[in-house]
Amino acid sequence: MLDLLIHNANLPDGRTNMSVAVRAGRIAEVTAGLMAPAHETLDAQGQLLSPPFIDAHFHMDATLSYGLPRVNASGTLLEGIALWGELKPLLTQEALVERAMAYCDWAVAKGLLAIRTHVDVCDPRLLAVDALLEVKRRVAPYIDMQLVAFPQDGVLRGKTGPQEHMDTLKRALDRGVDVVGGIPHFERTMADGALSVKLLCELAAERGLRVDMHCDESDDPHSRHVETLAYETQRLGLQGRVTGSHLTSMHSMDNYYVSKLIPLMAEADLQVVSNPLINITLQGRHDSYPKRRGMTRVPELLAAGVNVAFGQDCAMDPWYSLGSGDMLEVAHMGLHVAQMTSQAAMAQCFRAVTRNAARVLGLSDYGLVPGCHADFVLLQAADPIEALRLRATRLRVYRRGKLLAQTPAATSQLHLAGRPDSTACRAESIPRF
Ligand SMILES: [Zn+2]
Repeated sequence: MLDLLIHNANLPDGRTNMSVAVRAGRIAEVTAGLMAPAHETLDAQGQLLSPPFIDAHFHMDATLSYGLPRVNASGTLLEGIALWGELKPLLTQEALVERAMAYCDWAVAKGLLAIRTHVDVCDPRLLAVDALLEVKRRVAPYIDMQLVAFPQDGVLRGKTGPQEHMDTLKRALDRGVDVVGGIPHFERTMADGALSVKLLCELAAERGLRVDMHCDESDDPHSRHVETLAYETQRLGLQGRVTGSHLTSMHSMDNYYVSKLIPLMAEADLQVVSNPLINITLQGRHDSYPKRRGMTRVPELLAAGVNVAFGQDCAMDPWYSLGSGDMLEVAHMGLHVAQMTSQAAMAQCFRAVTRNAARVLGLSDYGLVPGCHADFVLLQAADPIEALRLRATRLRVYRRGKLLAQTPAATSQLHLAGRPDSTACRAESIPRF
């Protein structure tokens, strides 16, 4: 006897009218037209059933703090970092936990069931680290959360010397933080930035951990930390386990240099996370016109075989006043900024917030194939492209075969003489002649 049988689902790979069978929290079978006894059956009515959304880059410690203690007036990355510095002494563990828990509610409603979040480790109290370890424990039944030890103020920029933040970062790892972070472009010099990449990658190799660095998050065409990150990845045998996040300077780099750099990144199997909403908002702030978009070279990286995911990065915090945990909104922005408008490229953008992001986190048993966890989202859309176009309603969100969230279909009632009485802006309603 199956626990759950979903009929008549479209899958992201283009298969239609598929049945997905669930037993004991895992996918038992994926096939066309399966008839079998089940405790619960659901007719998907030709809607898209997707693996859950995954956010490969977020800041859960700062989330939902918008306006505290004041709003970022310039809108720049550097004022955001200064503002976060003003907020840090005012934080309490209870406020951090409650804001993060509220965000996780939003995430579940949006079908977002795995989040890699950076957590600032430059506070000697490690208040945010302890708060997010508590949140990770509380949400474990419904969200896979990965924590990255992120030295926001620069790992080598401690007031008492270069050991200060390195020590707090190591203490955070000792307490159970999963991934080694970094911010080389924010160290005092380019040389210190390169040294920080070397030291942090060596630390990760020693401890058998993954690496995810904020890297070259600037408009500086001469920033070279991703080159060092690829080099250290390859030197230390960390291929596939290291992520370069943001990489916005690649937008502004010389094309000849990039033609050498991307193959080095591919050789190191460097994972890339681009954060389209935030990159297009924070970068190019020193430009007049034309203004640079500041997003890294997503289609070119994908074409070279580099795995690229999109992240939300910020939601209602010192850096960004909007955001709701909607990874379709993130992918929608990425698609526009990177001009990834072909059918194949739009499908890649959908994968950047699902399958590719799962690879960045190193999640196992993710996907719609037998043996994987029965985690999925039923969307009010026929395929990934319609899901992106509509930022489709998450009709039902499941984890381990259990229903976590439901949202009514978005349908507008119309009061127009001679016209249909409702519309959901679906492609299926377009006259075909
Ligand atoms: Zn970030």
